[in-house]
Amino acid sequence: MARVAVIGGGYAGLACLIELAKKAPKLELHLVDAGAEHCKVTNLHKTFSKPASDFKLPYAELAERFNFHFHQQRIDFDATELQRWQQEKSIELKDGPLGFDWLLISTGATAALKPAGENVYGLKHLLAGQGPELLDQWRQQAETDQLDISLVGGGATGLQVLFELQALLRKQRIAAALRLIDLNPRTLPGLPERAHRYVVRKLKRDGIDYLPDTEYRGQQDGKVLLTECQTSREYTLPSTGTLLFPGVQRSPFAITSNAYGQVEIDGQLLPDIFSAGDCADFAGNGLNLLTAQAAVRKGKLVAHNIRNLNAGRGLRRYRYQEKGYLLSLGPIDAVGWLGLRCNLFTGFAANTLKEAMESQYDLFLDGVDTYTGFP
Ligand SMILES: Cc1cc2nc3c(=O)[nH]c(=O)nc-3n(C[C@H](O)[C@H](O)[C@H](O)COP(=O)(O)OP(=O)(O)OC[C@H]3O[C@@H](n4cnc5c(N)ncnc54)[C@H](O)[C@@H]3O)c2cc1C
Repeated sequence: MARVAVIGGGYAGLACLIELAKKAPKLELHLVDAGAEHCKVTNLHKTFSKPASDFKLPYAELAERFNFHFHQQRIDFDATELQRWQQEKSIELKDGPLGFDWLLISTGATAALKPAGENVYGLKHLLAGQGPELLDQWRQQAETDQLDISLVGGGATGLQVLFELQALLRKQRIAAALRLIDLNPRTLPGLPERAHRYVVRKLKRDGIDYLPDTEYRGQQDGKVLLTECQTSREYTLPSTGTLLFPGVQRSPFAITSNAYGQVEIDGQLLPDIFSAGDCADFAGNGLNLLTAQAAVRKGKLVAHNIRNLNAGRGLRRYRYQEKGYLLSLGPIDAVGWLGLRCNLFTGFAANTLKEAMESQYDLFLDGVDTYTGFP
């Protein structure tokens, strides 16, 4: 029986495993992940109000549902290790070597700037479920002190967290001043300019201070240290805490792959090792952004190509193109585009559609695939 091993059980790794479990039931499937649970990261901004466990699914449960073997282990590797794995067709696990016919690397991305210092929080704190605790702490502080919260990063993740938090603070009547600090001169650089203007109007309406073109240098003694990019002027502002969301980088490095998803190291093809998701830098003109939509499509493409290799058929190229992109701006608002990039979609209707996209992934994990079209 041919064997497929997947390192990293995020959106891409699971998309590949689920697709193979359904369409190639004769393959023996293995997942290796550092954690015990799959995290639906795209919902993480909601973890201030809901426990993080609401967005996590034990791999053991998924393994039973989709008939794969699960090994909880972190595997650190570099380019040389990948070349060795290709030669040996085996990876080293705690309980011995695991031989493979095909290997998928889908280890995602990590925060570009790690939260350092007191009262600085980031992705890892939300992943660990510290959102409600933090909110509680701020609620208590707000009873005696002026509460100033800084958020760094005007990309999709930062804005989703910012507006979710703002809505919650209001709902719970916690008096707080929020500010958005961004190195870029505009928010959402990947989206049309009109999306940025929509966000700026909303920031103004919600009374959130917006500091574009501003570098965050740290949080210290109740103050945030900033530099104005244009003038290099350094200054501080009062800040109870800082939330850091200045972007992510492919992890452990950008794994270059051809348009079929097969890894290439320094121009050398590793024909039995694929990559998918945020860590994968695909050749060709398919969508190569660090998004869940792209991760699922890359994972499905790799599954298709592994099935073809197993059946002695040719490979297909990755050519998925985005048909829209939406991000939520609090519980009843969202912004993005649909169909054409000039077709800006906003407000409650956009938020409802964004929620529907999340449900699409939930359905997928239940075994119902509504991701139509070839990736
Ligand atoms: C707060 C937030 C909101 C987002 N919102 C959206 C959104 O609205 N829409 C959208 O399209 N995208 C969104 N994204 C981006 C999206 O979440 C990512 O693009 C997606 O998770 C990438 O999937 P992946 O499978 O590549 O990696 P991940 O989902 O990050 O999974 C990687 C997996 O690999 C495991 N792993 C990593 N290293 C190792 C190792 N060395 N050994 C073993 N296991 C390892 C990890 O434990 C993890 O389970 C958001 C991201 C964040 C952080």
